[in-house]
Amino acid sequence: MNIENLIRENIKTLKPYSSARDEYKASGSEMVFLDANENPYENGVNRYPDPKQKDVKTALAAIKNCNPASMVLGNGSDEILDLIFRAFCEPKEDNIITLPPTYGMYNVLAGVNDVAVKEVLLTEAFEPNVDEILNAADENSKILFLCSPNNPTGNSFSNEAVEKLLKEFKGIIVIDEAYTDFSSQKSWLNRLEEFPNLVITQTLSKAYGMAGIRLGICYASLTIVDVLNRIKPPYNVNLLTQFKALERISAQEIVQKEIDKIQQNKAELEKALAKINFIEKVYSSDANFILAKVDNADLRYDQLIKKGIVIRNRTTQPLCENCLRFTVGTDTENEKLINALQEIA
Ligand SMILES: *Cc1c(COP(=O)(O)O)cnc(C)c1O
Repeated sequence: MNIENLIRENIKTLKPYSSARDEYKASGSEMVFLDANENPYENGVNRYPDPKQKDVKTALAAIKNCNPASMVLGNGSDEILDLIFRAFCEPKEDNIITLPPTYGMYNVLAGVNDVAVKEVLLTEAFEPNVDEILNAADENSKILFLCSPNNPTGNSFSNEAVEKLLKEFKGIIVIDEAYTDFSSQKSWLNRLEEFPNLVITQTLSKAYGMAGIRLGICYASLTIVDVLNRIKPPYNVNLLTQFKALERISAQEIVQKEIDKIQQNKAELEKALAKINFIEKVYSSDANFILAKVDNADLRYDQLIKKGIVIRNRTTQPLCENCLRFTVGTDTENEKLINALQEIA
């Protein structure tokens, strides 16, 4: 597959913004930087941040066991997803494929970029409908979004289905692995080199506990990384974010401890939810949230709000009629949730 053919013409010929700093930063700190109209007095943040985020990438690459050159970092994975649209989708001409029920941002970004969406429902088991997806695809289908573990259903997609799509879909496949650190399935990261059209996105917003700093990660072939680097705003990841990310990435034991605790709390919450009389089904989860089918989602949602508990009502999503999504919280939060559910029941 020739990725070059998928890139928009205007992007192929784009001359990226270049700063003098890019070229000379490497030559050392003795350089006098009078190139960027910064205030020269040190306060910790008076200089522009590293546009390639070298230190964060090096630290991440060591943990993820990959090449730092195959990464692009963004202001949350939402920014990365938007960059992918802008690199590959010609407005009013191209389309993307999403698999509802899934993460809402793909459709929002398609709307913002004036790109049509083909929706191919997941099966009743919340798996990709591989044949239907391949049938729905046409020569303008530039991106297929696979969210695995999927939000809001919580399951990971079968490896066979994903692999078949990777081999047969003729556009870019984005595997959104926002919840990979909670998953029993391996990340697709170690298969990256086999598929030039594969883009994997991850984030520090969930398992890493850093939703507030906005750091999204994308891994892809060097051709794709090069395109995304050319179109991204040069200083898209700010200095404070890079600093906090580095700190957290270096504290792996704490991160892992929190993940373990969340998994334990998830198992307990699953059991407790199953005992509530108006909960009809608790779906098994490979993420840090649980989808459950209730008798009347709107009613139960409102009742929980009145008790001061905010969850997500997914009842308007296809295949999610009367489904609520519960994020796994702390011991105390989960206790409050279960008490509230018992009182309502
Ligand atoms: C939460 C979430 C993200 C995270 O996006 P950020 O912009 O990195 O915070 C991405 N994809 C899915 C499916 C999510 O649920």
